[in-house]
Amino acid sequence: MNRRWHVLGAGSLGSLWAARLYRSGCDVELILRSPQRLAQYQQAGGLTLTENGQVHCYPVPATSIDNCGPVSLLLLACKAYDASAAISQLAPLLTADAEVILLQNGLGSQDQVARLIPKARCILASSTEGAFRQADFSTVFAGQGHTWLGDPQQSSSPSWLEDLQRAQINHDWTEDIASRLWRKLALNCAINPLTVLYDCRNGGLLEHQAEVASLCNELSLLLHAYTTPSTAAGLHEEVLRVITATAANYSSMHQDVAQKRRTEVAYLIGYACAGAERKQLQLPKLSALNSRLGNYLAAHGLPRH
Ligand code: NAP
Repeated sequence: MNRRWHVLGAGSLGSLWAARLYRSGCDVELILRSPQRLAQYQQAGGLTLTENGQVHCYPVPATSIDNCGPVSLLLLACKAYDASAAISQLAPLLTADAEVILLQNGLGSQDQVARLIPKARCILASSTEGAFRQADFSTVFAGQGHTWLGDPQQSSSPSWLEDLQRAQINHDWTEDIASRLWRKLALNCAINPLTVLYDCRNGGLLEHQAEVASLCNELSLLLHAYTTPSTAAGLHEEVLRVITATAANYSSMHQDVAQKRRTEVAYLIGYACAGAERKQLQLPKLSALNSRLGNYLAAHGLPRH
């Protein structure tokens, strides 16, 4: 089918998706934030993707927001804290039947975006793929993974999934994307903030097992309040499995802090604490962790939220 993919944001995940869609023959256009950014991109000659040690440059067509034509299928590939501003800029360009895939980690930004574009279909994504930018427009595909996609409002799967198939983007359509996002949020809350505060790799948390266990208890209560019993089940066991399997890795939040980049904390533990408050759940360990993390970020010159 002749459809055009627009990808907003040529960062790590946006580039990874755009390069794979482009090389599989899809019609793809990148949307960059400004004519200056577009000029830098054109100078770079395309998106460079390093995968299994192989480096390829893909000359994916690009435009700047202010020159972009109508958008009917959009991959919003910016950070959670940039999503509302980005979609506000794009809203006037969305067609009446537009579909928007939200790649943001955590929770909260998806609702903010959906409120800004009430007529569009928003598809939520939860991805375990790993990519990082080694330079502008040059991305390393660091970890194979899987992307879950779903629409809490409408269970029918979109026809463009066939493009992901052809582009070899591992994915599945799920009727309960919200539970997946909540479960991933809980895993993140149990691991990432502590790796920042103890300045350690994921495996370092094996020395703080009691703290991890009590956090998992509270996070399970939160999952029970917002999702299904099966989503809450076995959280502590899974957290320990993840810590052990990724013992040598630094968490994404740790990497952000180490590189003095703003974190997505407001959409992770911040969202979890706000959710607990909404349901009048007392989660003292989680709340104390959120405060400690906020103080730590502020002391390191980073936004608390
Ligand atoms: P990233 O590398 O920082 O890329 C974000 C991109 O968004 C940047 O290229 C930025 O442009 C662009 N952007 C922001 N606002 C924009 C605007 N108004 N107009 C145009 N472009 C705009 O981030 P990422 O790592 O790909 O992460 C994206 C989301 O995916 C996050 O929520 C993250 O947690 C999630 N995620 C990432 C991974 C991963 O491995 N990277 C894995 C799973 C989930 P500039 O370059 O011009 O600043």
